[in-house]
Amino acid sequence: MVESNEKYKILVMAIFLAGACYLTYYFHVVVETDTVFTHFFYIPIILASMWWRRKGLAVAIFLAVFLIFSHFFIRPNVETINDLIRAPMFIAVALVTAILSERIAKVEELKAKETQLIHAGRLSSLGEMATAIAHEINQPLSVISMAAESTLRDVEKKRVDVSALPKDLEDIMRNVKRIDRIITHMRTFARKTEEKRVVKPEEVLNNAFSLLDEQFRVHGISVSRKIEENLPLIEVDPNQLEQVFINILTNARQVLDERGEEAKREGKSFQKQLGCNISRQNNKIVFEFADNAYGVPDELKTRVFEPFFTTKESSEGTGLGLSIAYGIVTRSLGGKIWIEDNAAGGASFMVALTIGNRK
Ligand code: ADP
Repeated sequence: MVESNEKYKILVMAIFLAGACYLTYYFHVVVETDTVFTHFFYIPIILASMWWRRKGLAVAIFLAVFLIFSHFFIRPNVETINDLIRAPMFIAVALVTAILSERIAKVEELKAKETQLIHAGRLSSLGEMATAIAHEINQPLSVISMAAESTLRDVEKKRVDVSALPKDLEDIMRNVKRIDRIITHMRTFARKTEEKRVVKPEEVLNNAFSLLDEQFRVHGISVSRKIEENLPLIEVDPNQLEQVFINILTNARQVLDERGEEAKREGKSFQKQLGCNISRQNNKIVFEFADNAYGVPDELKTRVFEPFFTTKESSEGTGLGLSIAYGIVTRSLGGKIWIEDNAAGGASFMVALTIGNRK
């Protein structure tokens, strides 16, 4: 395909060059006029530089030399320097075209490379995820197997210490729950089927709260919601977006509880607060979840979105919540998710989705 394309280009170029030679012969020798015919030369010159870049300069040089040759040898008596000026013009135009084509080609190459890199990045994050899951599940599995094995050995040797049984069984149950939590999270992460619908932005937020309102109330967290009026609709898989909000809100609840406990230990008063805002910013709908706990240090602002990154006790956190949120927002919904510091001294989790997004 490429080769036949190249042959076709050479053929077209040969026809143009033959035409250029014929025109030169016709006007210089047959008609003997100074009619400007060299404008036609720019077609093969520009084409050659676009097709073959700097190598294409050969065509310009050929035509330039040919023109000067015909000027001196066929019509030596005519006093015109036009042809002499045109010759370097050919080369200049060819050079500029070649350089521009090279630049354009480079930009395209870079774009292709970038796409490749993003793709490779995704693959490697999948690979990393698989390795990390193996590691994460291995740990609770070995606790379970050790507890089960030692109990079995005791039973076999008929020296069962009944008082130790509840602890062993609790260990087993706790670790089974941990594996269950990891798998439940993974299911959301791996879910491919997307059912996109056009929805009101606040509808998804309200749905998330219908599951969490009671929890926030019980935990003494005061929630305020500020929703801009007449927000445009967004096209999303509402279940997935709800999952994102639930993950962010659950983290906020946990971190607010932690801050509350700390204040209590220090005998200080602390009002746990959570602000949820939805606003329109240019062509985006921006959701903000602002807590007044500790905030996220700058060096962790992107790391917290990595799979299995957690600062919590292993029985409390899997480190998957935000990486799932990240995957859904950036990959499935084509949006952005990031963290900002807020005036209340806590973290603001931001989710921006393009209006009318049909990705
Ligand atoms: P997990 O909650 O299981 O640790 P996540 O991926 O949901 O996993 O969160 C990763 C980490 O991000 C948490 O361990 C915590 O350090 C940090 N984080 C999440 N939300 C907040 C928040 N609102 N304020 C401060 N840190 C947070």
